[in-house]
Amino acid sequence: MGGGLSMSETSIAENLEHVREKIAAAATRGGRQPGDVTLLAVSKTWPAEFVREAVAAGQTAFGENKVQEALAKIPELPGKLEWHLIGHLQKNKVKAALPAFAVIHSIDSLALAERVDRLAEELGLFPKVYLEVNVGEDAAKHGFSVASIRADLDALLDLERLHIQGLMTIPPFDPEAEKARPHFVALRELRDELVERSGIPLPGLSMGMSLDYEIAIQEGATVVRVGTEIFGKRKSLLARQAEEAG
Ligand SMILES: *Cc1c(COP(=O)(O)O)cnc(C)c1O
Repeated sequence: MGGGLSMSETSIAENLEHVREKIAAAATRGGRQPGDVTLLAVSKTWPAEFVREAVAAGQTAFGENKVQEALAKIPELPGKLEWHLIGHLQKNKVKAALPAFAVIHSIDSLALAERVDRLAEELGLFPKVYLEVNVGEDAAKHGFSVASIRADLDALLDLERLHIQGLMTIPPFDPEAEKARPHFVALRELRDELVERSGIPLPGLSMGMSLDYEIAIQEGATVVRVGTEIFGKRKSLLARQAEEAG
């Protein structure tokens, strides 16, 4: 598979540079330091070769949404990279996922958190995690509801193996980026409320994707998860298979 498969004019390195500039500008506009925002390059659906191009351009943190796909890709790449799971984690995949991922952004229920905690203990690990909150109350999405995270917070904080970094959200899809802003604000305000109640610091806000990460940064994002703007537009697996078959 050739590099630049579906990239029209620009290379992954150029795209990364452009995204970094936009992150720095958005941070500065929001009165924050560019270094306050971590760029997670979302490499889901793209082959290891694309990741290698990004690594050559200085990127070290990558996001994947499927455990199996990541487990196939990770051994093809340098060991120094940091892998983040950003997609729903099925209960039967926890044991395989834990050693592979440095960070799990998608802890979306107390039951999953308890299972991750128990298996982390078995494996001798202390995973960094984000609690995914469905602030848009979008029926199609995973995540704690605002009510359930309030109710479950104490039980979550009792799980000694989990290093809870903060909250994560995926707003309902809308081509108009500004529509995501209220969801980012809601996540930040919820975080502030939970910190006040528990006294536990929750500095991380994992929010913002290609379409809306500048807005997320203005609203306090500490991690943005960007795929399309770095690697190009993803095709469905079926479309790619049809293309490869000619
Ligand atoms: C795919 C994905 C992203 C990246 O989306 P882009 O629009 O390609 O930047 C970010 N977060 C999650 C949870 C995703 O599944």
